[in-house]
Amino acid sequence: MKAEYLEPLTLQSPLCVLPGIGEKRAVKLKKRNLYTVEDLLYWLPREYRDLRQIYSISDAPEGVPCCVKALVAGLPVTSYIRSGMRLTRVTVADEAGQMSLTFFNQVYVRSALVRGEEYIFYGTVERQGSRKAMTNPMFEKEGRRRFTGRIMPVYHLTAGISNYVLSQAVRQAVVRCAGTLSDPLPESVREQYHLMGLGRALQNVHFPTDFAELEQARRRLVFEELLLLSLGLALMRERRGEGTGRKYRLFPLEEYYETLPFSLTGAQKRTIEEAAADLCSGLPMNRLVQGDVGSGKTVVAAACAWLTAKNGAQSAMMAPTEILAEQHYHTLSPLLERSGLRVGLLTGSMKAKEKRDVYERLELGMIDLIVGTHALISEGVRFQDLGLVITDEQHRFGVGQRARLAEKGREGSGQPPHVLVMSATPIPRTLALIIYGDLDVSVIDELPPGRQHIDTFLIGEDKRERMYGFVRKQVEEGHQVYMVCPSVSAEAALERGAMTAAELKAVEEYAAELQTRVFPDLRVGLVHGKLKPKAKEQVMGQFLRRELDILVSTTVIEVGVDVPNATLMVIENAERFGLSQLHQLRGRVGRGKAKSYCVLVSDNRNPDTRQRMKVLCGTNDGFQISEEDLKLRGPGDFFGARQHGLPQLRVADLAGDMRVLQQARDTAEGLLAEDPGLQKPENAGMMERVQRLFERNQDGLN
Ligand code: ADP
Ligand code: MG
Repeated sequence: MKAEYLEPLTLQSPLCVLPGIGEKRAVKLKKRNLYTVEDLLYWLPREYRDLRQIYSISDAPEGVPCCVKALVAGLPVTSYIRSGMRLTRVTVADEAGQMSLTFFNQVYVRSALVRGEEYIFYGTVERQGSRKAMTNPMFEKEGRRRFTGRIMPVYHLTAGISNYVLSQAVRQAVVRCAGTLSDPLPESVREQYHLMGLGRALQNVHFPTDFAELEQARRRLVFEELLLLSLGLALMRERRGEGTGRKYRLFPLEEYYETLPFSLTGAQKRTIEEAAADLCSGLPMNRLVQGDVGSGKTVVAAACAWLTAKNGAQSAMMAPTEILAEQHYHTLSPLLERSGLRVGLLTGSMKAKEKRDVYERLELGMIDLIVGTHALISEGVRFQDLGLVITDEQHRFGVGQRARLAEKGREGSGQPPHVLVMSATPIPRTLALIIYGDLDVSVIDELPPGRQHIDTFLIGEDKRERMYGFVRKQVEEGHQVYMVCPSVSAEAALERGAMTAAELKAVEEYAAELQTRVFPDLRVGLVHGKLKPKAKEQVMGQFLRRELDILVSTTVIEVGVDVPNATLMVIENAERFGLSQLHQLRGRVGRGKAKSYCVLVSDNRNPDTRQRMKVLCGTNDGFQISEEDLKLRGPGDFFGARQHGLPQLRVADLAGDMRVLQQARDTAEGLLAEDPGLQKPENAGMMERVQRLFERNQDGLN
């Protein structure tokens, strides 16, 4: 393509304006979410090859890829070795030696390699007898080097597009955009953190002159990405505050505290005060309460319901299953009835007449707090005045479901209800800033006094029989036991209850083996992800009513179900779980008065894996565990906890870039303090990029 035909490029130009990218390839790139020049520019190489060193034939190292400069000494000769397979050979040479090259099915080399000309060949040198040889090397003519003699980017490949074609397209994009790119980062910020300009960063992240420059280029792009993300989240939080919310009157919280059978921890009080301040601020509350299992989130939610009732409005708490709804109902009603609140329950399996009765009382305002399942969002449900919606993050309600419940709050007053989300997944603080950046977050980082420590042990197969003996002992003492088997992909199982047929067979066999061979005299139940919700609830119900001694499950055991009589958690193939997942599972026991235990079974010898599991044996502190998990496994698991909503990060790797994340957060805060809606002209470029980042993700943040 000749230079004068080149159209000017903008970041928004479609990819087919680039050389080598026709309609067909553009379609392929779309599958990788690459639509525009900007997408491509921010699509960083998977790795880099250092081709800066160019060797002579005799100096070239063997067995590793390298560049060799040599002259084409003979005519390339092509032969057919079998149908469809063509072999082209040619000899190259320099002053001191010779090397033979072999190309498979690349007939074009016959015309591409000209006898007597000098080329750089990139490939792995091997020895064939006394001779050196290379197979399928990449080559460039000396004097027209593009990749050799420098650091070469290697991209994730898409079928039908070679690394060469892709690199060329990226190079064009870099060159043709460089002059017109406006840098979203204000100069003051770049100076403060010693960040290079955007053009230079893009140039060097794809075609670095050296590795130090590459590192700086990457750091600059990571900073930019995390800054835009932080800004976007903060703006969402602000925008939410633009509408008016219900402004509650504050009643002395001590009045509520006095009705409780225990005194609250400092962390619980602080959290309640933070939430109460939201409720009385005149803006809609959107608060996440994070606290380890057993930290006492329920009384915090109850406090909000209490204040809501004091203000003459109603609260709704949505749970994902009937069992959980019933459990919440049974803990919340005694807690709140002491203050005169009327607590109701609504689930799908209630009789029609009972439901109608609840509907009526809700509509008349005769129920102050309704606890229920999805039944709460069904047609017939009308509130007199819904002021507060409470959900549990771990239950993973769809964005839509929560919104539909909130909608019911608008029906009466036209004002959105306050929203309180609870989460039992401890997330490292720095990460929470991103994952929950659009919510206000309270952390209950203190357990009620006297909480028992769950003794945790790591054992190998050699101790299996002893472990079975321990299970039996617990049951003989009148307790119950969980035995958990991972699916192959433990995460997938935890997320969606997904399971393959083979995995299903494995867990069924495991349960059958326990029942028939190991514990023929005990009652063993099985619950797994392939069961229908009704069947699942039935087994869980049996366990809850002590009709089962042992519950075998995949990771789908309902997080949050409270079986205080369960004192032992056995986790098979513990190495397959993330630390935080193990901690969550362990939290299923130790909920009653009896001493509780967790046994991790694993024969894995990998030192890292063992260290990870040892962390769990050493501490019961969920936040400490989550910090360790982040260090050891990276942030993927934590993001899994909140799948939708967050824009995909293209450059940053949060595990490695935590320090930059903090800097970006600080910068975002500073920028917004000076220019709250990012309205100033000098911030327009930044604002545009923020909007684009969040547009890519239509869900928005839930
Ligand atoms: P989670 O945060 O896991 O939802 P819960 O709210 O279910 O925890 O509380 C766990 C248990 O601790 C409940 O039995 C609750 O009554 C009790 N509890 C909560 N707060 C306190 C406290 N400050 N002192 C003593 N017990 C408490
Ligand atoms: Mg709870």
